Amino acid sequence: MATSGGGNYRNGTHKSSMKVDRSLSLNSNPKSSVKSKSLPSSGPRRNSTGSLAGGAAKDNAGVPGRVRVAVRLRPRNAEELVEDADFADCVELQPELKRLKLRKNNWDSDTYEFDEVLTEFASQKRVYEVVAKPVVESVLDGYNGTIMAYGQTGTGKTYTLGRLGEEDTAARGIMVRAMEDILADVSLETDSVSVSYLQLYMETIQDLLDPANDNIPIVEDPKTGDVSVPGATLVEIRDQHSFVELLRLGEAHRFAANTKLNTESSRSHAILMVHVKRSVKARDSAFSSENGNSPHMKTLKPSLVRKGKLVVVDLAGSERIDKSGSEGHTLEEAKSINLSLSALGKCINALAENSAHVPVRDSKLTRLLKDSFGGTARTSLVITIGPSPRHRGETASTIMFGQRAMKVENMLKLKEEFDYKSLARRLDIQLDKLIAEHERQQKAFEDEIERINVEAQNRISEFESNHADALEKERLKYQKDYMDSIKKLEEQLVKNQQKNGSEKVPVGLREDGSALTSNTESSKVSAAEEVAELKKLLQKENLLRKTAEEEVNNLKSQIAQWKRSEASGNSEILKLRKMLEDEASQKEKLEGEIAILQSQLLQLSFDADETTRRLDRGGSGKVPSGLDSLISQVKHHQQDSGNGEKASIAKLFEQVGLQKILSLLEAEDADVRIHAVKVVANLAAEEMNQEKIVEAGGLTSLLMLLRNSEDETIHRVAAGAIANLAMNETNQELIMSQGGIALLSMTAANAEDPQTLRMVAGAIANLCGNDKLQMKLRSEGGIKALLGMVRCRHADVLAQVARGIANFAKCESRAATQGTKTGRSLLIEDGALPWIVQNANNEASPIRRHIELALCHLAQHEANAKDMISGGALWELVRISRDCAREDIRTLSHRTLTSSPTFQAEMRRLRIGH
Ligand code: ADP
Ligand code: MG
Repeated sequence: MATSGGGNYRNGTHKSSMKVDRSLSLNSNPKSSVKSKSLPSSGPRRNSTGSLAGGAAKDNAGVPGRVRVAVRLRPRNAEELVEDADFADCVELQPELKRLKLRKNNWDSDTYEFDEVLTEFASQKRVYEVVAKPVVESVLDGYNGTIMAYGQTGTGKTYTLGRLGEEDTAARGIMVRAMEDILADVSLETDSVSVSYLQLYMETIQDLLDPANDNIPIVEDPKTGDVSVPGATLVEIRDQHSFVELLRLGEAHRFAANTKLNTESSRSHAILMVHVKRSVKARDSAFSSENGNSPHMKTLKPSLVRKGKLVVVDLAGSERIDKSGSEGHTLEEAKSINLSLSALGKCINALAENSAHVPVRDSKLTRLLKDSFGGTARTSLVITIGPSPRHRGETASTIMFGQRAMKVENMLKLKEEFDYKSLARRLDIQLDKLIAEHERQQKAFEDEIERINVEAQNRISEFESNHADALEKERLKYQKDYMDSIKKLEEQLVKNQQKNGSEKVPVGLREDGSALTSNTESSKVSAAEEVAELKKLLQKENLLRKTAEEEVNNLKSQIAQWKRSEASGNSEILKLRKMLEDEASQKEKLEGEIAILQSQLLQLSFDADETTRRLDRGGSGKVPSGLDSLISQVKHHQQDSGNGEKASIAKLFEQVGLQKILSLLEAEDADVRIHAVKVVANLAAEEMNQEKIVEAGGLTSLLMLLRNSEDETIHRVAAGAIANLAMNETNQELIMSQGGIALLSMTAANAEDPQTLRMVAGAIANLCGNDKLQMKLRSEGGIKALLGMVRCRHADVLAQVARGIANFAKCESRAATQGTKTGRSLLIEDGALPWIVQNANNEASPIRRHIELALCHLAQHEANAKDMISGGALWELVRISRDCAREDIRTLSHRTLTSSPTFQAEMRRLRIGH
């Protein structure tokens, strides 16, 4: 089977593999590979597996990946250096050509080409990078990988694979370096790295991590055909140190086990299995790009996991031991010891020759390595050889094994699968969450239902109770109505029975049974009719009641409306009042005219009386003259209404006679009374009539009118007449003696018309000018009555009041001068001074003049000076003495001020000069 040279190989289908180039590139620039570690999913590593990355999951057929084979030459050991000193090595390496020359003899050699040729000087690091690193990277990418060392015992398999390198870092073997790269690349949060370490000896698998576990079965998945050893201890690796410890432990167990079995480690196969499980991010997942269109799918979508398995196999020594039991083994034992290795050789032969049958099942080793040769794994084989020509045969056999292995084509497949377990776990969690949420919502829903129920129940019961109340009210009302109706009906019935009874009695007495019966029946009938009628009446009543209610409502709304319009009504009322007042004054005017006409009528009647009397006396001829005078008088009156009236009244007085007129003052007819008093007043205005009037009792009659009449017109006119009469001194005494002051005071108190007050004030003012009546006038309240009248601000009234005060002051000052009056003025006593001072400068000249005079009179009496000063009268006097328009008054006040020591003193004090 030995090929003759590399030509065969060079022309082979495998020659131009990218992996060889890549390995070279890695060799030439190891640093770039270090860099690439941080970019596990991209960069050179992707390229290293060609187009694998993207389509691997879809492409179940996988990508061709030939088993790669490197040859490593161990340096001569101490023994060889001595014993083989005179001999050349059996091999000559041409690493740059990746060729190995195996000497046949001194002049002939066979040349073999390998994927890598590693000389005795090749460092462990370089060996790792050339042999193992591409496989490790594939494992990290989700492929299975195999690194296997094949060779004669003592050629450096264990050295290449299993050196821990604790004493010398550079000596670290492939296992340690592979784990370093794996741990550097994975994320321990999402990924996991776990290892098993097994020994296969005499077709028995032992657990190097648990020596008690010394017969581990191989399990084959019936569907996929994948093999696994689930019985092996699987230790998760989280750091390099624990891995190295694990390897050390494994080695120790391997040594112990082999001692126990009385064998050497070179007789057993050591198999390290590294499981790298990585979760793939969604964006990297083929699943997400094809099925992830629904957002809901995202949660239900299982994540992808890539499960790469790295198998590192340190085979038993390849030297044949079947010659004899040289090492104390029976032939059967020897067969069994080598069974796995020879089976491996057979399988590789079959694969290399594309044989239809590959006897994988012949040994446990071939079963375990089913995926490594002819399977889906990336496989890298290092064959180790020694330089010694003494072992040339074994070396040649090893080279041939390597050469055949190079022909084995694997189909690399990404070990990517959906992580249904974690999906199931996630879904479980989600389901539990949903169940809990559902339970909460269910509870909330039930609570809400309960709440709504309670609320509804409350509302219903509330409504029911309200309704029951209303119903009860309605029922009571109808019951009452019903009872009333029944009562009415009963009353009606009783009435009818009474009526019928009174009719019935005679019928019953008639001894006519049938008649009696029929009568009873008819009464029943009539009662029924009555009932029907009453019902009708009741209905009518009801109707009426309703109508009345409506009416009431209407009225209510009208009242509201009226209330609204009341305000406007009030202003209307004011307007009407004003009109009424206007009417009243108009009426008064008309009354005046009527009075004149009536007086003329009166005159005519008197004329008629006179004529009759004269006729009675016998002189009929005088009638015409009387009529003539009347006519002329009327004519005269029409021509001159001023003097004419007085003249006509004087004539009237003559003709009618005073007695007659005075008697009319007590006439029943009010109009006549008013007219009569006016006539008397007019007469009294004439001085020549005054005495006659008083003599005839006219004054008494006038005073009587003030006392008895309630008519203000009468009061006004009577007071005017009295005022006229009061100009006479004798009359003044008469008025006083007949209680005139009291009557005038009373009249003033009740008067509303300013003219009435003017007349009363005028009368009292006249009385005030009587020296003899001073005391009486004052004691009967004359001054108070005068002052009381200033409440009416009418200038005519005030002028009369002022005149009265001036008159009184004049009399007092006269009396004081005569020595009959001592002490303060009675005017001051009665409180007149403030009003006097207040009106001393009144703009109405009649008022002002009277008060100026009054002040002068008061000032002449020294007893008044103090009060006058404190009342402010001094200032008025000073003003009068300076500014008064009337010279006589000005002089009077000046003289008065000058003659009064008190005033003088005060004026000096106030520095007032005049
Ligand atoms: P094997 O496992 O193939 O039986 P070992 O790995 O045990 O061989 O190696 C046998 C001896 O050779 C060991 O003492 C080892 O240290 C040494 N050795 C192997 N390969 C090398 C090498 N490349 N450089 C130096 N010493 C080596
Ligand atoms: Mg070994």
